[in-house]
Amino acid sequence: MPSIFTKIIDREIPAEILHEDDVCLAFRDISPKAPTHFLVIPKKEIVSLADLTEADEAIVGRCIIVASQVAAAEGLEGGYRLVCNCGDDGGQEVPHLHFHVMGGRKMTWPPG
Ligand code: 5GP
Repeated sequence: MPSIFTKIIDREIPAEILHEDDVCLAFRDISPKAPTHFLVIPKKEIVSLADLTEADEAIVGRCIIVASQVAAAEGLEGGYRLVCNCGDDGGQEVPHLHFHVMGGRKMTWPPG
């Protein structure tokens, strides 16, 4: 079952897209938890970190490189946080692998 993120990839619902290439898409989170909050997702329909296989290594690598590049383009020189929620206990709500990038404020630790 395609998730809402597949609909963003397919332009069936709008999003503020910050980067797109053959492998991944970066777009602003609709409900930002920090002054800058965007998501990086693979175009491949992978549900979560728990579903990755060795064959997905390049996809995940590309997503993290794009996270870094978009963070730089967004001016997050002071740092930022990269988060990937996995499954119910991890707080994942959308069943399509995604990396949160949050910055523009001082983060606290540990997360809730
Ligand atoms: P999760 O809790 O699954 O790690 O995070 C899902 C994220 O997706 C949340 O931060 C939520 O605000 C964001 N989100 C959910 N639906 C949409 C949407 O339709 N558009 C955008 N841009 N973000 C969404």
